[in-house]
Amino acid sequence: MSFTVNTSIPTGRFAPSPSGRMHLGNIFTALISWLSVRKAGGRWILRIEDLDPQRSKLEFARQIEDDLHWLGLDWDEGGIDGLGDRGPYCQSLRNDIYQHFFDKLRSAGLTYKCHCTRADIMATQAPHESDGRIVYSGRCRPAAAPPFPQCASEQTGATRLFVPDRDIDFVDRVYGPQSVNLTTHCGDFVLQRADRAWAYQLAVVVDDALMGVSEVIRGNDLLLSSAQQIYIYELIGHTPPAYAHLPLVCNAAGQRLSKRDSSMSMAHLRLTLSPREIIGRIAHMAHIIDKYEPCSPSDLIDSFDWSKIPQSKTIVIH
Ligand code: GLU
Repeated sequence: MSFTVNTSIPTGRFAPSPSGRMHLGNIFTALISWLSVRKAGGRWILRIEDLDPQRSKLEFARQIEDDLHWLGLDWDEGGIDGLGDRGPYCQSLRNDIYQHFFDKLRSAGLTYKCHCTRADIMATQAPHESDGRIVYSGRCRPAAAPPFPQCASEQTGATRLFVPDRDIDFVDRVYGPQSVNLTTHCGDFVLQRADRAWAYQLAVVVDDALMGVSEVIRGNDLLLSSAQQIYIYELIGHTPPAYAHLPLVCNAAGQRLSKRDSSMSMAHLRLTLSPREIIGRIAHMAHIIDKYEPCSPSDLIDSFDWSKIPQSKTIVIH
């Protein structure tokens, strides 16, 4: 397999998981990513992240496309029908591509099989990790340093990627310089789950790299996982994109929006507001405009500036 990547055009992407109807937080991410590339004269890709066969549904992907169209957020490449020549743009159709990069990491002796259950992982976690992150202790890691011997016939278990005890430094466009130690942040992490599903960390890097994505914009819940992704970029020999993470959108009660928040779901919003009212509300919440007024995404291109995006962890939508 050979891949060529044209990175000369600023390229952004929106990469929703089709596991439910989008909410206002998802639209916030889509809008900012869209504005950033439209302002730079770049292109915008819609990638459907349907890796999880249990949770992903084509019906939800169709609704995502319909909601984006309705809001005036157009994409140049991607979507379910796979517009463009770097597809397929649905992750469920990219199995051979992930396999190719996975095999590279495996041949380099950087992976090993893990048979830990969730209970094993929880029981061997470092005691100081109390913020909900799961840090793998390395219980199944071979005793000798990599390259690890690989057993091609071993079909069971998850496959983990070795991480060195090393800091990854990067600059986030919103939150500034970051330094993340891979061992204390995550430990050796999964590339392929025991049920053969590809892990998000591998798929997102391979896709962004091969689709020529130059800027990744998403919620700040994924800020630190950028370090894992930069590490994979290094291993596969591609240049990482610029990262910009956004405050998480919360409801008036201060809770982060989720797909279960029906009042902020597109299903509900489309019944009560026009597309221009939704875009205006988000633009006002994100400080792109000083005073609320209904507007279209294109109306905001001139006033969009990264320095206006709040650096707080969350922002509240009313
Ligand atoms: N598929 C992820 C989500 O819907 C997005 C991941 C990313 O933007 O890197 O949360």
